[in-house]
Amino acid sequence: MADDWAPGSWRAFEAKQQPKYADKAALDAVLAQVKSLPPLVCSEEVDDVRRQLAEVAEGKRFLLQGGDCAERFADCNSSLIENKLRILLQMSLVLTWGARMPTLRIGRMAGQYSKPRSADMETVEGVGLVPSFRGENVNGFDATDRAPDPQRLLAGYFHSAATLNYVRSLLDSGFSDLHRARSWELGFVKDPAQKAKYEAMTAEILSALDFMRTVGGSSLDGAEAVRRASIFSSHEGLHLDFEQALTRSADSAASIWDRAAGVAGAPAPAPEDSEPSTAAAAASSPPAATSPASRTSSPGAADAAAAAAGEPSSSSRRWYNLGAHFLWIGDRTRALDGAHIEYFRGIANPIGVKVGPSMKRAELVPLIRMLWPSPEEQPGKIVLITRLGAGRVRELLPPFIRAVQAARLPVVWTCDPMHGNTRKSSVTGLKTRDFADVVSELRDTFEVHRELGSRLGGVHFELTGEDVTECTGGPSRVAEEDLPLRYMTHCDPRLNYAQSMELAFLIASYLRS
Ligand code: PEP
Ligand code: MN
Repeated sequence: MADDWAPGSWRAFEAKQQPKYADKAALDAVLAQVKSLPPLVCSEEVDDVRRQLAEVAEGKRFLLQGGDCAERFADCNSSLIENKLRILLQMSLVLTWGARMPTLRIGRMAGQYSKPRSADMETVEGVGLVPSFRGENVNGFDATDRAPDPQRLLAGYFHSAATLNYVRSLLDSGFSDLHRARSWELGFVKDPAQKAKYEAMTAEILSALDFMRTVGGSSLDGAEAVRRASIFSSHEGLHLDFEQALTRSADSAASIWDRAAGVAGAPAPAPEDSEPSTAAAAASSPPAATSPASRTSSPGAADAAAAAAGEPSSSSRRWYNLGAHFLWIGDRTRALDGAHIEYFRGIANPIGVKVGPSMKRAELVPLIRMLWPSPEEQPGKIVLITRLGAGRVRELLPPFIRAVQAARLPVVWTCDPMHGNTRKSSVTGLKTRDFADVVSELRDTFEVHRELGSRLGGVHFELTGEDVTECTGGPSRVAEEDLPLRYMTHCDPRLNYAQSMELAFLIASYLRS
């Protein structure tokens, strides 16, 4: 492969937001163990997400991504997992009905344990200055437990595995038969006129499901959702040591059986990445030993060139991150010359990129090209997740859309109306978001795409199936004073069940109009 990418080549670049471990040997031992454990997902499933995202890019499918800002190990229990699944499935049915197309469901779950922070240290009342909480993969939320502990990565792996295991088994045993449950809790809607409208929509959705069940055999997503739905896993690809340990070589064409039997055409064992395996190497050696300009295009480019020359390509063997189906690059770690972009440009998974207000107009297309050498062959491989803030979309979004249109890149556009709208409640001092801001950013984003002949292909939310009081407003009218009542998040504020369902209905109405 005429390329210098390897699962550990990111170490020559500056890696932002990485924990500083005191005991490097302990970290190495943990990473070696993670590397020897089986992957959490398989490459065939990742390829399935890629195919579904290609449909999103073509306007034939809608994407719903949602879940916690930061999962906690303690949240790995049956009822929280069931409720998360239920809210995602119910929202997706409403969206499928609204968009008249199937929905691709991706949970922010089974691995969302590493968090970027705006400051390395914070002052906690009664304790003093302590390192910031960076997600349970790194340290504890308790202010006395903030030293990064490598053993937590193993706990992260096993909690992800337990979550995925339960999700898979629920979906396999008919949990997604929402029709049977009929547990559409519309009691949350206070406005009688709105309630009547949602009841009518629900009745229509359920009767459509009835019809599909009666005719049977339909390939429509509604019918699929009646029997057995799929939900894929995702998290922010932040902790590069850990992501590298879950990066595996796999054949995207041969079946699992071919691989196991070692039949002709199955891939040779992948060369091991021989770099030192801790971030310490990157931290202690000067970063950016390789300048961004010296980075060649990613591995896929070599394959495209080989194919054009009629030579056999190496594309059947690819590197996948098999710790999740879908990973995204956060707004704080998307620097073009940074370690995260170096890592991500070599993996075959579909990749999300957060686009915040600090992204420069001229940055977006080069960033996409760095991550995606053959866009025409892989529509939808890159998912742009805009999070610009209510009131800023009309000013900031059009130049990005125009740049992507001019470069003819078949990206998937989605909107995260959460992260641009975080504020501190003046009444309680708690971090919150107002439902009206979330709705405003979403509505503007839908409209701007329509006006420019582009298309919003999906939405990205921080939400929970629980009745929390973390975001103000919405159908249950959470007031600033109510925030402390059930404020459960250890990171950003999430939409509760009622707020999430209300949004699904709103989006369904935009999609139908
Ligand atoms: C997040 O999705 O939790 C997050 C930190 O987002 P962003 O990178 O967009 O700030
Ligand atoms: Mn968040």
